[in-house]
Amino acid sequence: MAVSKTKTPISEQPPDVRVRNFKEVCLGYTVDEGRAEAARCLQCKDAPCVAGCPVEVDIPAFIKAIRDGDMAKSVEIMAVYTNLPAVCGRVCPQETQCEGLCRLGKAKDFEPVAIGKLERLVADWNYSREKAPAACANGAAGSKTSGGKVAVIGSGPASLTVAGDLAKMGHDVTMFEALHAPGGVLMYGIPEFRLPKSIVAREIESIAELGVKIELNVVVGRTITMPEILGAYDACFIGVGAGAPRFQGIPGSTLNGVYSASEYLTRINLMHAYEFPEYDTPAKKSRGVVVIGGGNVAMDAARSAKRLGAERVAIVYRRSLAELPARIEEYHHAVEEGIEFHWLSNPKAYVDGGAGKLNGVACVRMELGEPDESGRRRPIPVEGGDFFLDADTAIEAIGQGANRVLLSAFPELKLNKWGYIDADERTGATSVPGVFAGGDIVTGAATVILAMGAGKGAAAAIDEYIRGKDKGA
Ligand code: FAD
Ligand code: SF4
Repeated sequence: MAVSKTKTPISEQPPDVRVRNFKEVCLGYTVDEGRAEAARCLQCKDAPCVAGCPVEVDIPAFIKAIRDGDMAKSVEIMAVYTNLPAVCGRVCPQETQCEGLCRLGKAKDFEPVAIGKLERLVADWNYSREKAPAACANGAAGSKTSGGKVAVIGSGPASLTVAGDLAKMGHDVTMFEALHAPGGVLMYGIPEFRLPKSIVAREIESIAELGVKIELNVVVGRTITMPEILGAYDACFIGVGAGAPRFQGIPGSTLNGVYSASEYLTRINLMHAYEFPEYDTPAKKSRGVVVIGGGNVAMDAARSAKRLGAERVAIVYRRSLAELPARIEEYHHAVEEGIEFHWLSNPKAYVDGGAGKLNGVACVRMELGEPDESGRRRPIPVEGGDFFLDADTAIEAIGQGANRVLLSAFPELKLNKWGYIDADERTGATSVPGVFAGGDIVTGAATVILAMGAGKGAAAAIDEYIRGKDKGA
């Protein structure tokens, strides 16, 4: 049978409907649709797609099981490699990873296999079973040991991966999270319409089912100190992310109506502002919203503002579409939902409409000059390119930095020149013996799957470290 050139279509909420709710945009494949998509896979012997996956999921094997109609086997295969399949299937940038390397996608006019959507199908199918085993319980992540005590700080994807893998290896793991809900950015940053919180909660439940203890509302460095942790545990993993917002520092930044994307999204996702007054945190219904930035965070903020009822939402980005860091799927969804894009533009000042309230954003057009140290062409303001955007809400989504709470309370930890933890790329080992680190707090703001990859490497290294300690004792 000839292989279809394009991916099997997937159902989505229509744009005019979804902009009025926070429910998931993409509705996922049915098992039959998934089998049709799985049949497109060439089952390449050398599987180039696997090299694009930081946790090295056996992609052809799990796809073959779907094609053969053996969903349970597909779940088992996936569980060996990932603790968060339903999350990854939804938010990983597959277009630049596994799907970017898919051999089918290299053929003229052919789209790659929809690996991410198939991963999501497997995870969702597992959770829909009446007695779904923990998605990750079958994983044989490493050798069983006598078991050490490990503290995991933070509960984002890096920490969840470390915790799950170490529990599978037989260690006693306690996870400490500063917020009142576990999950890190998966819970407080990425909106419900892209990643339902019930899905995140279900994956975390799977990890807890492995025996991982989760202690919430514990700010390590304040509620409990690092010396206390190091005294009570054999090893420790720091996965505290890079959640501290950065600001441009332009005039008017302190006006009422100017937010960081972190605050805006946390109010909506973690505090359920979109369900006010059922929840206590209110959400402002804006007249005009300007979002500054071009990453996933900017898309999420803009699309959330639209769903909260804003009349006009615009994204101001200083480079062009070709340089946009957001996932292309998110960009397309934003366009469908009526978000305006001002390319090659930058804000100069937030304008006070009186009484300290934002009334608009003064912007300037940019052009691309010579490449800067990152290799990207540097945006330069165009003379006479000033323009004004009417807005009562502005959201800065220009990146995040390291949260200093733990770092400043633990000066023994060596940091790199950007203020992130200096850790071994493969093992996560830091300058302090027995302390490992990974995810955004090492790399700076990156992706879920890179954080998970770091977590996997660190889990293996922590296991080895504890076994070495046991032998030495
Ligand atoms: P985090 O997820 O940041 O988790 C760190 C956790 O540590 C937090 O829960 C924090 O409360 C906790 N913590 C911090 N300090 C302490 C302390 N002192 N004590 C105890 N706990 C502490 N990536 C993608 O791949 N695809 C996407 O579509 C995508 N969209 C994104 C959208 C938004 C809005 C944002 C903000 C990020 C997005 N990312 C996306 C990036 C991705 O979410 C991150 O790279 C990833 O979550 C990093 O994982 P982490 O485990 O390092 O840390
Ligand atoms: Fe299948 Fe593409 Fe991987 Fe080949 S590269 S095994 S076609 S998913």
